[in-house]
Amino acid sequence: MPPKQKNELYKESARKKDVRTTNIEAAKAVADAVRTSLGPRGMDKMVAAPNGEVIITNDGATILQKMTVTQPAAKMLVELSKSQDVVAGDGTTSVVVICGALLKKCQELLEKGVHPTIISDSFSKAAAKACEILESIAIPVDMDDREALIRAANTSLSSKVVSQYSSLLSPMAVDAVLRVMDPARPNMLDLRDIKIVAKVGGTIDDSEMVDGMVFDQKAAKSAGGPTRMEDAKIGLIQFQISPPKTDIENNVIVSDYNQMDRVYKEERNYILSVVKKVKASGCNVLLIQKSILRDAVTDLALHYLAKAKIMVVRDIERDEIELISKTLGCLPIAHVDHMKPEKLGAAALVEEVEVGKGRVVKITGIANKGRTATVLLRGSNKMVLEEADRSLHDALCVIRCLVSKRFLLAGGSSPEVEVSMQLAQWSKTLQGMESFCVRAFAEALEVVPYTLSENAGLNPINIVTELRRLHAAGEKYAGINVKKGNITNMLEGNVVQPLLVTSSALTLATECVRMILKIDDIVPTR
Ligand code: ADP
Ligand code: MG
Repeated sequence: MPPKQKNELYKESARKKDVRTTNIEAAKAVADAVRTSLGPRGMDKMVAAPNGEVIITNDGATILQKMTVTQPAAKMLVELSKSQDVVAGDGTTSVVVICGALLKKCQELLEKGVHPTIISDSFSKAAAKACEILESIAIPVDMDDREALIRAANTSLSSKVVSQYSSLLSPMAVDAVLRVMDPARPNMLDLRDIKIVAKVGGTIDDSEMVDGMVFDQKAAKSAGGPTRMEDAKIGLIQFQISPPKTDIENNVIVSDYNQMDRVYKEERNYILSVVKKVKASGCNVLLIQKSILRDAVTDLALHYLAKAKIMVVRDIERDEIELISKTLGCLPIAHVDHMKPEKLGAAALVEEVEVGKGRVVKITGIANKGRTATVLLRGSNKMVLEEADRSLHDALCVIRCLVSKRFLLAGGSSPEVEVSMQLAQWSKTLQGMESFCVRAFAEALEVVPYTLSENAGLNPINIVTELRRLHAAGEKYAGINVKKGNITNMLEGNVVQPLLVTSSALTLATECVRMILKIDDIVPTR
């Protein structure tokens, strides 16, 4: 029995139609804004903040996040890009572009009188089918296959501003991930275990993976403390080496010199006793967490620490503590009485070194190093460096996608064309409006090859028709070779991307479209 179809066409009230049209128009405008950044030949955006800060980026999520968007539906696209960033980390431009194309199709369908609910349901079905098709053409990948992982990272980096450095950054991303991966729990990967320290100076070529740990700050040496320590015993402390403060409401009034002397003496004795306890534990390098309650360490304390030949690195962020203790094999110490030798980490060398224009503290030769990795990223200026950081993050995310779902797809829009073709065929087995909507969904996916070729300066119509022909002839992996400007087998061209990136882009874009479709009124609140 075919499903029942409404015979009469759906007519909206003028206001509801208006709201829906405005929403779709606004969302499409956002999608159009990032369209030109898709693909390796895509353009970059310069984002200028009111305070004069400028960033240059190609990352869809970053562009949208910085964009001033006020229309509520347009904001949904910003959120869409953000969700793709969370789920997959890459494909943040694609997801918005696909969403824009789907919305355009919705508009056409609505004009033809198809009810929004029917469009919404059919799109949901189509997206589920699309994911099935994607899975059927995906190629399994082995985590031991380092080359394949590097190829995937390369694809992700190829569209970035820093793409010419992908031969350095891709292996680095792969090695960092492989280093933090726990063989006992191969599906768990926490990117927070990879520390990226970005330092201005030099070029990206000078970036390196450090076998050990790097801190962005200098050693505290105002009091003449050591800046290099061999055979280090490292203590990570969360307590303060400074005189305790009185309650906020209380004041201590010192009226004569005798009392003043006593206060100073007390303070000195207190700090001295703390430093002695630190020294007694055998600790010779102190990492001190930032404190908001009172000074983490005072000048007087630094003086005594320097005298005791203890190297000090201050301003350790609270959220770094976990990573540090994991890396160095030490335990964070919350009170001076807990300063015990067994809580310290050991390393062959802790040293302040010069990097580019600044200095960093490097810890090498860590005795029992945990599963973490540190990348020291370099760049000639802040803009390049920040974009390199974002790009490396994307590459890391791509590898993370492969860890959680070990399948690769060919790139260069070959999966989108294949899905579009198979969906169009599948729509012929459906009936009525549903078939019509699924067909529209399939056509919308062609926006990816269309945009890729447009951005590469190729003739989109020729390319898309040629791709259709090849895919119909069974060439599943035919895609646009953007660099050469022709159509080739993408697997042979080594352009591969994780299945998760494409499948989540399709699902999330569809979800967003369905949400926008179902809104028929905007209710302002105070
Ligand atoms: P996103 O933010 O969505 O990841 P990108 O600008 O990274 O956007 O572009 C991704 C698209 O570019 C994907 O469809 C991918 O297949 C394609 N692509 C990436 N590298 C190449 C390449 N070397 N040749 C052809 N297509 C590529
Ligand atoms: Mg990308």
